[in-house]
Amino acid sequence: MQDGNPTGQPSDHATQVAAGPFRLQAYRCWLRPQPATNRDLFGFADARRWVWNACVAWREEVNLIARSAGANWAPAGAFSLTFLSRLLDQWCAENLWLNLVPKQLLQQALADFIKARAGFLSGAVEAPPRFQKAREATPTMRFPQHVQLNQNAVFLPKLGWVRLRNTFNLGRGIPAGQLRSATVKFEAGRWFVTLLMRRPISLPASTPLASVGLDYGVKHTLASSARTVLPAPVATKREAQRILFLEHRLARCVPGSHRYAVALAKLNTFRSRITRRIHDWRHKTTTDLSKNHGLIAAEALRAKNMTASARGTVEAPGTRVAQKAGLNRALLEPGFGILMQQLAYKQAWRGHAFIQVDPAYTSQTCPRTGCGHVHADNRPNRDTFRCVRCGYTDDADFAAADIILRRGKQTFSAVRTAPALAAGLGRDCAPGASAPRGHRASHSRTKPCLRPTTQAKGIPAF
Ligand SMILES: [Zn+2]
Repeated sequence: MQDGNPTGQPSDHATQVAAGPFRLQAYRCWLRPQPATNRDLFGFADARRWVWNACVAWREEVNLIARSAGANWAPAGAFSLTFLSRLLDQWCAENLWLNLVPKQLLQQALADFIKARAGFLSGAVEAPPRFQKAREATPTMRFPQHVQLNQNAVFLPKLGWVRLRNTFNLGRGIPAGQLRSATVKFEAGRWFVTLLMRRPISLPASTPLASVGLDYGVKHTLASSARTVLPAPVATKREAQRILFLEHRLARCVPGSHRYAVALAKLNTFRSRITRRIHDWRHKTTTDLSKNHGLIAAEALRAKNMTASARGTVEAPGTRVAQKAGLNRALLEPGFGILMQQLAYKQAWRGHAFIQVDPAYTSQTCPRTGCGHVHADNRPNRDTFRCVRCGYTDDADFAAADIILRRGKQTFSAVRTAPALAAGLGRDCAPGASAPRGHRASHSRTKPCLRPTTQAKGIPAF
């Protein structure tokens, strides 16, 4: 689709990017292609799959020859990118339709195949690369170059400008060279594009922002020490009924039949609507928290913790969780891990700190300064905290959030005073230390390195 590009700037000049610490940020948007572009996208995905399958066939052929020659290993050179690229040229010469597809897109299939094969040889992946059937494969493709962006459209090679749906002026203010790649994928009946951008890392804020502790649970998705609750969107009653209905219908179909495929597609499409709503909420909530807080403390996730809370928590026995929790819980629970991840990386982008604290007894400890009494009786019921020593009374979730914040601050100051971890640096990245692997671009011997630390829990990521 040709949209013209009145406001967008060409964004694909990698050489213009200033060297220095950077972060990669991914944005996912709906694509709204015109019918012709839609057909082309499926065609591109088919071509990509064709090249992948040709690679798999090539691998089987090479293995067969090697085995018949009595060798245990196929020659590694037969799977180098250089060699496969030469094969690709040959395939393109033999199959002229492949030339309608951007070459870089097909080369990405080669790269994916090499990666998949290497993963299998190293033992990281169980199965070797397999043939992708048209029916089963997810149509997908990656454009590593020549992608551009304007306010409401993305430029893809050989497709032109394709409209994006509901973007928040994504392309505005994006300097040249920041757009790294676009990955297009067909999911639940829609095309999505994931845009990978290279952004310079922002420095730690000079004025310390507020800090906050977060408690998560079934009653309140998130309760903050600032006395606010952040409830996640849930499936409505009607939606829950509809899911049940679709599940029952699926159960009556014969697996592998056409009716089964249709029923499954309907169920997945409907479910994805609710999942997307929660994704959206999670991103908005974490962005908002991260923007406004220099330090965020949360509980470290424990699988045991989660199952316990589903039954009404060990700390608050005898109280059952609301019945509606059933479906919503199933949708939400795996979400806490992603929520924590998002907080961690969003804090790191802004040069803020995210600390995960030990969750033990957070809900039984009195948050009043100077008391700190720990007892199971501090929780007369699930929703209330009442200290048996000093009589301090509060909403149970807010009291827990207070404790979490306090522990977070303690960890934070402990980390600050440790010499190797001064200025929030990771162990592997103190000034003067040699650069760890894979990280020379952002490391400096003289200046503090701003690489986010992800290895150690509890260490603020700057
Ligand atoms: Zn107390």
